[in-house]
Amino acid sequence: ANVPRTEVIQQNVARPPREISYPRHDGKPVYTSELFGENVFGLDKIAKALPKPAFAQFLKQVRGRQALDRTTADAIAHAVRIWAMDKGATHFTHWFQPQTGTTAEKHDAFLTLKTTFSPSGIETKAIDAFSGSQLLQAEPDASSFPSGGMRSTFEARGYTVWDTTSPMFLQHGPHHTCVLYIPSIFISYNGDALDEKTVLLRSSEQLSKAALGLLELLEPVPAGAPPMTAHVYTTLGTEQEYFLIDRSLYVLRPDLKITGRTLIGALPAKHQQMEDHYFGHIPSRVLATMSETELELLKLGVPVKTRHNEVAPQQFELAPIFEEASIAVDHNLLTMEVLSKVAHRNNLKVLFHEKPFKGVNGSGKHCNWSLSTDRGDNLLDPTVKPETNYRFLLVLLATMDAVLKHGALLRAGIASASNEHRLGANEAPPAIISVFLGEHLTEVLNSIEESRPIRNFSMPNIKTIKLGGTALDVMVSSLPEISRDLTDRNRTSPFAFTGNKFEFRAVGSKQSPSFPMTLLNAAVAASLQEITAALKTAAGDKPYPSDADKLKVIRHYIQTTKIVRFEGDGYSDAWKQEAARRGLPNITNCPDAFDQIVADEHSAMLIGLGIFSKSELQSRHYILMERYAKDLILEANVLRGMLVQQIMPAVFAYRATLSESAVRLAELGIAADGGGAEALPEVQLLRKLQPHLVNLQKWVDALDGALNKVHHVAGDPSKEARASAKYLLPAMEGAREVADELETMLADRFFPLPKMSELLWF
Ligand code: ADP
Ligand code: MG
Repeated sequence: ANVPRTEVIQQNVARPPREISYPRHDGKPVYTSELFGENVFGLDKIAKALPKPAFAQFLKQVRGRQALDRTTADAIAHAVRIWAMDKGATHFTHWFQPQTGTTAEKHDAFLTLKTTFSPSGIETKAIDAFSGSQLLQAEPDASSFPSGGMRSTFEARGYTVWDTTSPMFLQHGPHHTCVLYIPSIFISYNGDALDEKTVLLRSSEQLSKAALGLLELLEPVPAGAPPMTAHVYTTLGTEQEYFLIDRSLYVLRPDLKITGRTLIGALPAKHQQMEDHYFGHIPSRVLATMSETELELLKLGVPVKTRHNEVAPQQFELAPIFEEASIAVDHNLLTMEVLSKVAHRNNLKVLFHEKPFKGVNGSGKHCNWSLSTDRGDNLLDPTVKPETNYRFLLVLLATMDAVLKHGALLRAGIASASNEHRLGANEAPPAIISVFLGEHLTEVLNSIEESRPIRNFSMPNIKTIKLGGTALDVMVSSLPEISRDLTDRNRTSPFAFTGNKFEFRAVGSKQSPSFPMTLLNAAVAASLQEITAALKTAAGDKPYPSDADKLKVIRHYIQTTKIVRFEGDGYSDAWKQEAARRGLPNITNCPDAFDQIVADEHSAMLIGLGIFSKSELQSRHYILMERYAKDLILEANVLRGMLVQQIMPAVFAYRATLSESAVRLAELGIAADGGGAEALPEVQLLRKLQPHLVNLQKWVDALDGALNKVHHVAGDPSKEARASAKYLLPAMEGAREVADELETMLADRFFPLPKMSELLWF
């Protein structure tokens, strides 16, 4: 049999590593801070391009989210074109985020023809041009993006509009291609959001307003004076997990190529049980890919900071320094794109799927989230005495209240066919959305609730771990005291307070952080509004609430949000039962999660805040259901193809070899002295294979039956999604079990696919 995978593995070993040259200046390395933002047309460059008053006007328009005036737009367009062309750019593109989970772009050349008509004839001249209106807006034919019924075919127009809060940047490609990217939102003719970004911007705006409303009550100013805080930003830092595998093996796996995960594959003897991969030495091919990725990202202004091995073999993580949420989302999507490109160049393939391999850990995207004022104050910073930091306590409680009221909605924001393999499994946060606060904050809240002094938790003690007084004293006496995070770690919580921010851990590695962040921002904005109103009520006629008023409100919310707090093991069954007792939703499948988006208690909030219109929500619901069904149908079809076209023929071939051999041996009388043909190992193996093969055939039939049932409800995405979950998932799981059993029984050279051991230990 032709088994290319063994050849591929041999070739991999022989392949020399890729050389990349890092920028040097006069023979010395260039500091990364000098490269940072090299390919970004940032505010500094815009300031240079515009006369001072025009720049001031620009800043005002950006902050107020107003449309740019034509003269300013023309001046910026001209300046950015010259800058980009001097660096080799030939094209520009509006770069946007349709609801496909990825980004979209359509390139246009700067080249334009200028035609002059005169009595002596028509003269045509080639020029390079880029106008303010081209910068501001484009109209891609958008009829093929998912719109969930938002646009009928006769009104298929969609508009991309430059999001002035996100800077333009250049990306270089092969053969000196270079394109100017204009980060954009994507809206319909009627102004409906067709993308992920518009709603994120709306939610950040609402959250900012709501937070300002609260701060105005907490930051007294003389009558008539402006408020102390003018703007509040949502901050986001995304920890991106991913797998890197060899590309020449990857291309031999139809399941990985088409669906992003292995649909079959037996767990090898060594997987992650040795616990030797996490924070281990980074393999050199991987380190090369990481550094080249980081080099490009730094030039793009993405502040990449941390890299390390993750728990599963060939699993890694990359984390940037946090930024304003919408920029952080752009940068996370860019990170994923650049990582894919660079991995490709290094003959590797990056997998962002949440569960590419059964039996080892999957990948998530921890979204670290907080609020910051325009003066740089982190509103979730507990400071040294959180018990009297009312601003902190109120924002903390607003976030907890948001999770309490809209946890089911947050669950919807992270639901996808791929993330389902992770959630609720014993390696990732459960599907029950609760809040982890840690011992110290729990005590702070309890002491306020019970109106008693706080128990022995003064900050200086908890902030340091004393190394003195132990046998190690002599050795470590020169070490400084280690400062300890305010909270301990709890990996099992989906939504954990980690020092001065919340970490939403249930977000999937593949998905854009945009939608989950939009829903979180919205829910917190609603709770901040409610808490602000409660403070006003408590203050009565006074312009500002007193400390007693604040404590009254704080105590109330400590009590009402108590049931969403959970400090224990989120993986345990006991928690599932406890959560049910508390009335916390435990939504175990995607279609039920998607329904939350249009459920009254959540949609009223989203519509009320103007973050989604009713039809935008319905369209999202439609798109998510449709997407989920499509994902599962695709997987089922790919699996069916692999079973029928690869696995079964492989077993047939092995069987033929075995039976031919058995017949020969019997002819030679070799079996006879051992007690007949039955005693031949070949024959025994054939008998063992037989029931599995019959079983596999049954599962293929079952898959066909399941696909048929789903096909029956085609056209209604909700029904299709439910039918897919109900029929396809169990059929795929059943088929997989048998196929994996057969993999372990088949002679290696008959098995047509790279095995998990080869993919993970290439
Ligand atoms: P870990 O959670 O693994 O200990 P870190 O504490 O370094 O990692 O932080 C993880 C991420 O949280 C980083 O991307 C970091 O920039 C981000 N982060 C830190 N502070 C904030 C904040 N105030 N708002 C949003 N993200 C933050
Ligand atoms: Mg973390």
